[in-house]
Formats: sequence, structure tokens, C-alpha cells
Amino acid sequence: MMLENSKYLFDRAQKFIPGGVNSPARAFKSVGGTPVFFDKAKGSILTDVDGKDYIDYVGSWGPMILGHAYEPVIKAVQETAAHSTSFGAPTEIEVEMAELVKRMVPGVDKIRMVNSGTEACMSAIRVARGYTGRDKIIKFEGNYHGHGDSFLIKAGSGALTLGSPSSPGVTKGTAKDTLVADYNDLHSVKELLNTHKDEVAAIIVEPVAGNMGCIPPAPGFLNGLRDLCDAHDTVLIFDEVMTGFRVAKGGAQERYGVTTDLVTYGKIIGAGLPVGAFGGKKAVMDVVSPVGPVYQAGTLSGNPLAMAAGFALLSELQDKPVHYDQLEEKTTYLFNGLKKVFDKWDVPVHINRVGSMISVFFTDEEVVNYQTANTTDKELFRDFFHEMLQRGIYLPPSPFESWFLANSLTQDMIDKTVAAADKSIEAAL
Ligand code: PLP
Repeated sequence: MMLENSKYLFDRAQKFIPGGVNSPARAFKSVGGTPVFFDKAKGSILTDVDGKDYIDYVGSWGPMILGHAYEPVIKAVQETAAHSTSFGAPTEIEVEMAELVKRMVPGVDKIRMVNSGTEACMSAIRVARGYTGRDKIIKFEGNYHGHGDSFLIKAGSGALTLGSPSSPGVTKGTAKDTLVADYNDLHSVKELLNTHKDEVAAIIVEPVAGNMGCIPPAPGFLNGLRDLCDAHDTVLIFDEVMTGFRVAKGGAQERYGVTTDLVTYGKIIGAGLPVGAFGGKKAVMDVVSPVGPVYQAGTLSGNPLAMAAGFALLSELQDKPVHYDQLEEKTTYLFNGLKKVFDKWDVPVHINRVGSMISVFFTDEEVVNYQTANTTDKELFRDFFHEMLQRGIYLPPSPFESWFLANSLTQDMIDKTVAAADKSIEAAL
């Protein structure tokens, strides 16, 4: 495959940027080879620096739900930039954004804008700690909440063990306040809450896991977390950085009928500009500075360009819920096509899907948590990924990521993808 300019840029990049990338997932570590450097995109078609086109299933890891270079977003950014790129003072668009989110997700009484999903999650647990006066949090193995110290913790030998840092630079002191439970396993959560009575400030969860591949919540799991949080006066936080405005207009809260105390957003809420947000019940959010004592701030928070872009995208989603029906149909169509292909070649496979999030696991096991996700055949995925790439299909470069569909995908593009999968799996086997 011709990747001459990408190779040249990657060599240059590695000299001055760690690993040649500004975020590790881009480096193709788990699939090997040279990351593709992109030049431009329109709708669901990406064009790389060598002029080759790809059908996009990454969507910038989520924000591009209506495709790249979406006209209303471009227009909003251009018009806003002409007024100023930042004031460091309040603007009308921030108010409009907060009102719009409230209309789309009725449980969010108040919202504070930040600049990334990481910031949103870091701030949310600080708020939960300030609100409850407790130190510990529970997270789930295989869930990712950004690179804040408290989240870079993996479970020890069992769910009841205190966490230990999984990245140098995270202190033991921080790690000891993060408890790790098993996804889709309420029993493991109950045990932690009972062992650490009156110590747990918050449970934070990806309501649909996307960072160990797409894993849906088991029936009753999210409601069970709600009940446990109520029983233990613990704050329930849904990390909807991926699922927000994607799995339904009101995110996972709407899709699964569970109202949380706090929620975090990123990705779609900024339409591809750097934004995150945390919000939730008034009583909890009122501890945030300057109303309450929990400090949280940002020079560029509520940035006008980011707000204008996010507002343009969210308004379209709010006004035309048919986008969600279409995304659901397209993802089902892709699912059926892929399933047929893998069955034809007798490949052990489980394809998980929620709304427009989908992941292919090459395994006999049903994938419900970190352990079962890990049974996927990583070598087969690696070979399949490269065969697909060669045929112009851009998938997330890891077996443990969700694919994100955009409504700019056409039936013809999905047909091409399925035809490419047929040839790719034949070559990869
Ligand atoms: N939470 C979830 C569920 C995510 O998927 C991510 C990023 O992929 C984050 C938080 C962190 O967001 P960001 O990369 O914007 O810091």
C-alpha cells in the first residue's frame, strides 16, 4: 500500500513528538504499521496525505456523528471566529448551550463546560467528593475516563483488592482511593460498598462501555447501580463522553431510563472542537465554585468556537430525532452484512452493538466485560484491520475500541465495507 507521505511525516513526527502522536491510540501500537496521516474529510470519506480515500468508521472517535466538515458547524465556527476566538468572559452562546442540553437531557439541571472528556471526569469526581465528604470512588475494569490520575488504575488480583497504579506517575496515595469492580457485575459493586461503608463518594461508569470495545450494559445493571447509590448515599456518575447525544438524543440516561446525579460529556458536545462538560442535579452541582466551595475553572472553558460548533450539531440532533433512527438502521445493516460474511468463513465472532456503536470481537465467548473482551483474537484483528485499510476502510486501529458510525454513511458505502470485509477476512485467515 502506498503510504509514502504518511511514512515521511511519521518519521519526522517521531523526532519531536513522543511516539509521533499527540494521543497514544493514534500510533497503531496494537495493529502495527504506519499510522495514516490525514489531509481532509467530507461526510464519511477521509482523504490521506497520499490522496487515498477511506470510508470512515472512527469519526474522530465519536464527534462526527453527522460526518466531517458538516456545513452548519463550519458556518458557525467561521462566523464566530470573526467576532473573537476567546473572551475569557461570559457569552450568550454558553447560555444557549446550557439551555439546549437541558432540553435534550432533562436530568441535567446545571452544566459546566470544560475542554476535554478527561477534565469533565476529573471535575465530576471532585464534585462528588466535595458533595459527600468522602474520598473513594468505584470504577470498572476496562472502563476509561480519560487520563486523570484517579482513573489510571487497574484491578489487582480481584475486584475487592485496592487498586494499584497502572501508569508510573500515579501515586499510591491516589490509587488507594480508586476501587475497581467488574463491569456488568453488581455483586462486585455491592461487596466494595459493604467493605468500604460510608467511604465511597461516587460510582463512575461508562453506561455502554466503549473502551474495551463496545459492551452493552446487562439488563438491570445500570438500574442496579442507581439503587446501590441510593442505598449508600453515593453519587452515580455516567461517563457519557462516548454515549452522550449518540445512543439517543438524551444519551444512555434516556436509552436505559436511568437518571444519574452527575454526567460527563465530550466528543459530540463539541462537534470536533476541544470540549467536555459535566452536569447533573442542582443540589450536587451547587457545590461547584463560585456557588459552593469545590474549585473548578478554565481560561478557555465555554470557548465561543467550541460552543458555536457544538450548538450547531446538537441543535440538528435535537430538531431531527430521525437521525437516530437512521443511524440505528445503518448500524443494523452493517451488523447483518458483517455477520453473514464472518459466518460464511466460519470465523468465531461476537459483534456487539448499541445504537451507532459497534465492535467486532473474534471470539466464541459472549463479550460482557474486560475478561471476555480479552479473549478476542488480536492477531486476526490486526490482519483484518490492515486488509480493510488497504481496501479503503478506516477502522479504529485496535480490537478494543468501538467503531462510530456517522449518518453520512450511505448504503453504498456500507455495501462496500461488507464486500471489503469478505475479501479481508479471507486474506487474514
Ligand atoms: N471518557 C470516555 C468514556 C472516553 O471514551 C474518553 C476518551 O475517549 C474520555 C473520557 C476522555 O476524553 P478526552 O479524550 O476528551 O480527554
